[in-house]
Amino acid sequence: MDGSHITGGAATAPFYLPQGDECDVFAAAAAHRLPVLLKGPTGCGKTRFVAHMAAKLGRPLYTVACHDDLSAADLIGRYLLKGGETVWVDGPLTRAVREGAICYLDEVVEARKDVTVVLHPLTDDRRILPIDRTGEELEAHPDFLLVASYNPGYQNILKTLKPSTRQRFIGVEFTFPRPEHEIPVVARESGLAEERVKPLVRLANKLRAMKGQDLEEGVSTRLVVYAATLIAGGMGVDRAIRTAMIEPLSDDADVKAGLRDLVTAVF
Ligand code: ADP
Repeated sequence: MDGSHITGGAATAPFYLPQGDECDVFAAAAAHRLPVLLKGPTGCGKTRFVAHMAAKLGRPLYTVACHDDLSAADLIGRYLLKGGETVWVDGPLTRAVREGAICYLDEVVEARKDVTVVLHPLTDDRRILPIDRTGEELEAHPDFLLVASYNPGYQNILKTLKPSTRQRFIGVEFTFPRPEHEIPVVARESGLAEERVKPLVRLANKLRAMKGQDLEEGVSTRLVVYAATLIAGGMGVDRAIRTAMIEPLSDDADVKAGLRDLVTAVF
C-alpha cells in the first residue's frame, strides 16, 4: 500500500482562506511547471491549500502521506500477481506523471532516501521519470506538477532536506494564520460562532508562544478546529480544550498542569 489517495477533477474547490499571495504563486508555478515546496508547521492548512488549488486548476490530485518506510517503488509502482499473471501497476507518482495531475508528497523528508533520487530528474528541465523495472523513461505530461511539504520546525538533522533537493523547488512558507484569518476559518470549519472561537484562538496563540520552552510544537489550527467542533457539539469548554488542545501537545504531567494554568488565565 502506498497510502495515497486521489481526489479532484474540476469539482467545487474545498474552502481555503488565503493568508497572502500563496494562491497566485501556486498558479504561476503550475503555469510554468515549477515544483513547489510548502514549508510550515503541521496542521496549518498546507494540505487544504493543495486540495483547493488542484480543484481550482481542474487537475486531479494524488496525495501521498510520506512515512519512514515509504520507498521509491511505492511511488513509482511494482509488479503484482493478479490471477496468476504478473502485471505492472503504476504508483501514484507515475499515474500523476502520465495523466498530468498534481502529486503532493506530504512530509517528504520522512520518506526513504531512494525517493529523492527519483525526484531529481523530474524536478529539473528534463521532467522525466525513469522506471527501472520496466525500462520505461516517462516524459512528464505538460500538466504534471510536483508539490511537496515539510516541517522545518522539527529539529532533527537527519530529517532535513538536502540543498541539492530543496533547490529544485520554489518555496512557499506557511505559518499559523493571524487571528483575523484563523477565527473565520475555525468558525466555518466547526460551525461555532466567531465570538466563541475568539478565546480559543487567543489561547492557541499563547500556547504557540511556548514552543521551544516546554513544547516541541505549538497547537495547530487543526486542533483548534477540533476543540471548536466539540464545543459546537455540546461539550463543555474546559473538557474540549483539555482533550483537543492540551492532551495532544504533551505527555508530561507538569507541562500539562502549566498549560491548564494558561487556560484559566485566558478564559
Ligand atoms: P497541514 O497539511 O498543514 O498539516 P491541513 O491542511 O490538514 O494542515 O489543515 C488542518 C485544518 O486546518 C484543515 O482541515 C482546515 O480545517 C483548517 N485550515 C487551516 N488553514 C486553513 C485555511 N487557510 N483555510 C481553510 N481551512 C484551513
